[in-house]
Amino acid sequence: MFSTKTLGGFFIFHDKINKQNSITLDNQGGQSVISGKTKLAGFFANPAEHSLSPRMHNRGFQACGVDAVYLAFEVDQTNLARAIESIRTLDMLGVNLSMPNKTTAIAYVDELSQEAQLIGAINTIVNQNGKLIGYNTDGIGFVKAMAETAKIKIKDKKITILGAGGAAKAITVQAALEGAREVVLYKRKNERFLTVKRDFEKIGEQTDSIVRVVDYADEEQLVRDLQTSELLVNATDIGMGTKEGQSPLAKATFLHENLFVIDLIYSPRKTQLLKEAEKIGAPAFNGLGMLLYQGATAFHLWTNHEMPLDIMKDLFE
Ligand code: NAP
Repeated sequence: MFSTKTLGGFFIFHDKINKQNSITLDNQGGQSVISGKTKLAGFFANPAEHSLSPRMHNRGFQACGVDAVYLAFEVDQTNLARAIESIRTLDMLGVNLSMPNKTTAIAYVDELSQEAQLIGAINTIVNQNGKLIGYNTDGIGFVKAMAETAKIKIKDKKITILGAGGAAKAITVQAALEGAREVVLYKRKNERFLTVKRDFEKIGEQTDSIVRVVDYADEEQLVRDLQTSELLVNATDIGMGTKEGQSPLAKATFLHENLFVIDLIYSPRKTQLLKEAEKIGAPAFNGLGMLLYQGATAFHLWTNHEMPLDIMKDLFE
């Protein structure tokens, strides 16, 4: 449903959401959203105001009858520790975090999930009766999006990833935990290359997957890896912002029709890489699925409810 081919036409609008996508705080429909027991969840980021998460989670809370609201808070490195302590103080459900809070926050929680330990970053904190547990739902979101939208399971697959930053690491860890056969990352050979290579290859040592990091400039090796891969993931920002219209692949001929091509970028919806993939007949997906499923996973951790994905569509148009 989130592929660049099929996005659209699947979701329905939720009747309690107004045209500005803000939640209704009055008694329309006979049920108030805010009560004396309403719980708080939030987003700690800087900047925080452009996030889609408040609309997504508030819509989910309403639809599931969860007495909670989700707000975005401007939180940076200077006030992160106090903000996280407030999760306990205010008995919040938990929060989402963006970079660089994702890595710094690790020092302020009580426990880490398995994937969060391996990734070294958390995007979700769950308040379990005063104990703060850090999770990273980015890689889980990617794996779920692949299963739901592309109908492809990660187990036994070989994945080639362009870029070796935060998103690539979350995907590598989750893919390795899900039993991927091999993950190969292409990274520029700069001063951080060896450190990043060692860091990623440790994931392979701690799981049953092979994890390799290769020089981005090694096109011959890239062609060989793509020929034996089932998935190609663009985890660079090549294709968005000032790099819109550019492809992270030197040549479109490196692609083949049996390769699932996933661009983590979701704005624009169809990057140059995805256009090239579609042209040669390869299944092509943008980053909306990962974005939605990482949020849905956090929502489930806080509420024990499945996020009703069918009412989220217009948020992503
Ligand atoms: P990041 O930590 O900054 O990592 C970016 C990676 O891209 C780095 O490895 C960097 O290489 C590489 N890169 C940048 N420019 C390059 C170039 N010209 N040639 C080769 N490599 C280049 O960023 P991130 O958080 O992982 O995000 C990566 C992408 O994923 C972004 O487009 C982001 O919007 C997207 N994303 C999507 C979702 C989603 O839910 N869909 C979630 C997270 C991120 P060096 O290491 O050599 O600098």
